[in-house]
Amino acid sequence: MAENKECTQETPSECTHDCSTCKANCSSRTPTYDAPHKDSHIKHVIGVVSGKGGVGKSIVTSMLATIMQRRANQVAILDADVTGPSIPKAFATKGDVMSTGDGLLPLSTKTGIKMMSVNLLLEEETRPVVWRGPVIAGTVKQFWTDVIWGDVDYMFIDCPPGTGDVPLTVFQSIKLDGIIIVTTPQDLVSMIVGKAVNMAALMNIPVIGLVENMSFVKCPDCGREINVFGKSKAEEVCAQYGIDLLARMPIDEKLSALIDRGIIELMENDYLEGAADAIEKYCAK
Ligand code: ADP
Repeated sequence: MAENKECTQETPSECTHDCSTCKANCSSRTPTYDAPHKDSHIKHVIGVVSGKGGVGKSIVTSMLATIMQRRANQVAILDADVTGPSIPKAFATKGDVMSTGDGLLPLSTKTGIKMMSVNLLLEEETRPVVWRGPVIAGTVKQFWTDVIWGDVDYMFIDCPPGTGDVPLTVFQSIKLDGIIIVTTPQDLVSMIVGKAVNMAALMNIPVIGLVENMSFVKCPDCGREINVFGKSKAEEVCAQYGIDLLARMPIDEKLSALIDRGIIELMENDYLEGAADAIEKYCAK
């Protein structure tokens, strides 16, 4: 959408709802942060975002949550990726979500990570969520305002992919401390990362850094790193946008097996330890 400097109050009629390409200072972009439930005391809220689906945003969210929980923090995951909710599966978390009358109680993973996801509320978790944008956005807001999260050191939000209406509503209604961008080598050569960075800048959300997923494959025989998608552009792109490269994570069949079996909390790799260090350091500032 063309720059629209005249527009300061109302959403412009030609609005594409894609704030990543629009510089208009319209009401669409004014955050009206919702307060969390009165019994939620959340110290740090980190959004995990991606330009499109299938790049490993949920796996990165699950791994970061696992690491932070291992480091003796109370961790929570708010699964805002409503149309592709894969967080409960990664932890094999099931059960009825209970209501106290005052709010909803999150479920807990085996190591005690608190979790809320639309998949926990659906009777059949394989049934696709075919809701329209406003309903999805409303659900995500409710996970923030109506869930009694209690005391949480780090909450990770698995954000809806892209830079459209739903992620926009998430960014406007939940005050994030910062975001982690997850991408793949192919996305780095396209405009996708730039869009995510621009959107965050326009919404005044700091980018903690970038995780390049599926960067390479390690040869099981000789340990050599094979750049399946060509030489990584991650450092170059991060330098271009002035953001930190937090990790380059390989394609690892053990990871997908852990996810498929719902036992991500048993992972033994150190792929995202550095990213977790960066989050701790960032949040301590
Ligand atoms: P997104 O949340 O971005 O849609 P997911 O985290 O659900 O993506 O990942 C998509 C699929 O790819 C999942 O089945 C996941 O287990 C698999 N996957 C993601 N990253 C890796 C990786 N580094 N190694 C192996 N499998 C991966």
